[in-house]
Amino acid sequence: MGSWKSKLRCGDLPEGAKLEAVCRRCGQVRYLTRGYLVDERAAGHLYIDEIEARSRCRVLGCKGRMRLAMMHRNQTSGFVGGMA
Ligand SMILES: [Zn+2]
Repeated sequence: MGSWKSKLRCGDLPEGAKLEAVCRRCGQVRYLTRGYLVDERAAGHLYIDEIEARSRCRVLGCKGRMRLAMMHRNQTSGFVGGMA
């Protein structure tokens, strides 16, 4: 029940891993890569649930809380989203 978020640190994520962040208020989706979290945010020591707690929606005026989910390579391969 989300317990992996309190056991896994950003730095523990496999190379090329991607987290999907969905705004609980407006549904805006962002993708957080391991490289972004570890290199740009210097958040390699933070647990995923800490990242989740700190994440806020970037939509102007929303600032909703984000819900993080792990993206699995085998689930996303062959899937192209948003191409109508
Ligand atoms: Zn939002």
